[in-house]
Amino acid sequence: MRRFVASAVRGIESWAESAGRTLGGDCFVLPMKFNVPALILVAASAMSGAQAAPATLHPPGPAFPEYPSAEALKSACDRGLDTAKTLLKAIEHRPGDARWLMAYDAYSATIEDLSAPITFVSAVHPDKAIRDASEACELRWNDFFSTQGQNEHLYRAAKRARVSDETDRQLRKQLIEGFEDAGVGLASDQRAKAKALNDRIAELGQSFDRNIRDANVRLAFTEAELAGVPEAIWKTAKRDDQGRVLLGLDAPTYFPLVQTATVAATRERMWRAKTNEGGEPNLKLLAEITGLRKQYASLFGAASWDEFVLRRRMALTPGRANAFLDEVKNAVQDRERSELEDLRRLKAEQTGQSLEASRIERWDRDFYAERMRQARFKVDQEAFRQYFPPQESLQFALKLIERLMGVRYQRVEGAKAWHPEVQTYLVSDATTGRSLATLWVDLYPREGKYNHAAVWGLRGGATAQKRASQAALVVNFDRKGLTLDELETLLHELGHSVHGNLSATRYSLQAGTAVQRDFVEAPSQMLEDWVYDKRVLQLFADVCPTCKPVPDALLAQAEAARRYGKGMFFARQHLYASYDLALYGPEPQDPMALWSRMEAATPLGYVAGTMFPAGFSHIAGGYSAGYYGYLWSLVVAMDMRTAFAADKLSPAVGRRYRETVLSQGGQRPPQVLVRNFLGREFNAKAFFDDLKR
Ligand SMILES: [Zn+2]
Repeated sequence: MRRFVASAVRGIESWAESAGRTLGGDCFVLPMKFNVPALILVAASAMSGAQAAPATLHPPGPAFPEYPSAEALKSACDRGLDTAKTLLKAIEHRPGDARWLMAYDAYSATIEDLSAPITFVSAVHPDKAIRDASEACELRWNDFFSTQGQNEHLYRAAKRARVSDETDRQLRKQLIEGFEDAGVGLASDQRAKAKALNDRIAELGQSFDRNIRDANVRLAFTEAELAGVPEAIWKTAKRDDQGRVLLGLDAPTYFPLVQTATVAATRERMWRAKTNEGGEPNLKLLAEITGLRKQYASLFGAASWDEFVLRRRMALTPGRANAFLDEVKNAVQDRERSELEDLRRLKAEQTGQSLEASRIERWDRDFYAERMRQARFKVDQEAFRQYFPPQESLQFALKLIERLMGVRYQRVEGAKAWHPEVQTYLVSDATTGRSLATLWVDLYPREGKYNHAAVWGLRGGATAQKRASQAALVVNFDRKGLTLDELETLLHELGHSVHGNLSATRYSLQAGTAVQRDFVEAPSQMLEDWVYDKRVLQLFADVCPTCKPVPDALLAQAEAARRYGKGMFFARQHLYASYDLALYGPEPQDPMALWSRMEAATPLGYVAGTMFPAGFSHIAGGYSAGYYGYLWSLVVAMDMRTAFAADKLSPAVGRRYRETVLSQGGQRPPQVLVRNFLGREFNAKAFFDDLKR
């Protein structure tokens, strides 16, 4: 449900990330409602400076709701929906007067508290019965929201609501658009159809995700087949009755394996299994979802789902998004070919085959790219794990935000959440000491847990209600430590939680990450770069005096290696984004036929029998007609980064950024926030310059 944001996965083949670069992404689920998360009380002045190590608060701070059993969750779901219906009746009868926006926002905030945590646990709860009950609850909430979206009383009141300033005007506009996009203005039979489509799409989207999450695929390998793979990845894994190691497709297993397994057949099996996640059932679901979205758009007179979606985004039209993607392609295609040629030469060298007989297969690419980084730049991502223990890495990332944004994170010992290993932090303003937000952090993989990296904005803050934001950061790290890529992922995700937690909007409906989706990744993408800065990494010493510092030479090599593979990476991202827009364009498309055609036109071609779209949950869910947003927001992110060019730890620039961008949430369009921060219009120069480097 309006769950929020951002995964990061590694590997060029995977949808989100690669080559040390986090183009992450998970969802908001679309129509639901039109609000999001943030915090209480104004940013005010904030400076970091030297603070004591985070103190422990007693007694424990905000508790996450407990769901002791599936039955208890179902009862809580019943009660929540009953309360919501009562509150809805009350707000329906309120006239659209000067206080209406405030009243509606308070109502929405209560509804958020009733619906967000109870549906979030479907992604993280250790008990499958509870996850299932949570999913069932989510469908009921979806029904509630899709009905509410068409509520004529609320729509009329929103239109009549009096506004006193630009923030009010923006909110009223967003609400009216939200109601209209949910179908309130349609004739009654069309309106019923819109709701039925909306509900059905939500249900199919859930099934799509469940087919991936609960498949629990395990591949069996002999130790010989795992040659080259670090023992840390497989030594403690379960074994089958023949003593073979059983490995899953979770990120901490999959990516290191395809980058390091010297046996090509091992990489191929793993890659095929990953590429076929979701399988035939998901291809059928995606075809159905695509068709239903087209029908939905047509109810509103739009020629396609992408046209319907993009008119509310920075890009405005599919034509503009596609023109941008063309520009990206032109900038990277030669580079991609020459990088692949390098890999082919390396493969020939290392296998002793002739160059003519050597061919880079899809399951070779991450492996040889990693080899190339090691050979050419002497960088081994695995070598970083010893420097970045998981808990200390988290402390480091929090310290960085403290320093830059003028806040404090205090761990709440003993606070319960959905799993004993989840950590609770209170976020406060370093200068005023005011409480701002709660952050939950769930670091390690476990069965049935969402297996990428994402942040859920569970509660949007609002200054008018003195309402603090809440966010949950969910990642899957190896207990032995993080690679530099993974540290980058951590910063990316933390960027989303900070966007929510440091928001200081008047209304919860405009809080934090309630921004246009082709901007929402920008604050996170901006921060990724920080892990390559020596001075930034020195903050590790503050949180872990006994940790060995990363040798300068290793970091410098990683920085150089990072540039390698950019052509392949962006070409792949271009394919994903173009595929998404083509799938949701005006021509009806079979998802698999379209994919095999488009992938076949790339230098490495399409591998028969694979079905990548079956695992591409972004486009089945809330990033449909929105994947291009990762590249689009990267343009904005790289432009914003220029303000930190002289000093990535500048509290003055950090504070200005917090005040002009983060704290403003969706109160103004993104281009206005960025203009206020940079003092000029944003442009794509930094992005395209970087592609050439
Ligand atoms: Zn993200």
